[in-house]
Amino acid sequence: MDLQIAGRRAIVCAASRGLGKGCAAALAKEGVHVTIAARNAEALAATAEEIRNASGVEVTDVVADVTTAEGRAAVLEACPNPDILVNNAGGPPAGNFRDWSRDDWIKALDANMLSAIELIKATVDPMIERGFGRVVNITSGAVKAPIAVLGLSNGARAGLTGFIAGLAREVAPTGVTVNNLLPGPFDTDRIAQLIEARARNANMSVDDARKERMSENPMGRFGTAEEFGATCAFICSVHAAFMTGQNILLDGGYYPGTL
Ligand code: NAD
Repeated sequence: MDLQIAGRRAIVCAASRGLGKGCAAALAKEGVHVTIAARNAEALAATAEEIRNASGVEVTDVVADVTTAEGRAAVLEACPNPDILVNNAGGPPAGNFRDWSRDDWIKALDANMLSAIELIKATVDPMIERGFGRVVNITSGAVKAPIAVLGLSNGARAGLTGFIAGLAREVAPTGVTVNNLLPGPFDTDRIAQLIEARARNANMSVDDARKERMSENPMGRFGTAEEFGATCAFICSVHAAFMTGQNILLDGGYYPGTL
């Protein structure tokens, strides 16, 4: 299927590794020129080179922490008028809410709610003027089924989800769609960290903890960044023009509800 987005421009945040990289690679494969941002210059440059070689599109890499105003300004300077914006940032640490200070909450809100809203604010009006835009926010399955130890993530992402639900309807007549992608377990560095913590807490090997975690999923495996990216690219396509304000869960069937 031709997604009919070749030649469009995209910003993909937090894209040197994992799900962000999966989204950037999938968009590039469809002919979208991508500006990718992450904090680690070396990893980011290697990813940019990999995507460039695989797709032939323009790939611009911007070393930036997207949770800061300076970082976002650098990304917008490199790509001031994106047709597609994929919001993403690292997830907050797990823990007990009794230990979290106001600063911990502000950091989580900055990373997983406010940075996405700021980037939308800077890019959505030109998308509206051009009559085409796609905003995809990478959130978490924890928005649908909160996980107690990930309280910082549950709270911040729920805030973003509420905001997006309103925004998506506001801009619906303009050709701009706004959706959230909710990852369940995907095989990235983030899940490797969570598995290491599980292994430590349960006094088991990392390998056993990984197998145990996989066996909890109906598919008996984790998702791949490529699968995640392919869904993102479809949401950004012309064919998904009637889909907006949605929370799309990609979790191998882990969430047990009918809806
Ligand atoms: P990852 O750790 O594999 O990759 C994160 C990427 O983000 C890296 O490229 C890193 O350099 C970049 N990054 C992190 N913070 C950044 C910042 N402030 N500014 C710029 N770049 C930054 O993580 P992932 O698995 O790809 O997860 C992406 C998001 O999805 C995270 O918010 C994570 O919590 C969430 N999530 C992941 C899973 C999963 O199973 N992988 C499940 C649920 C939610």
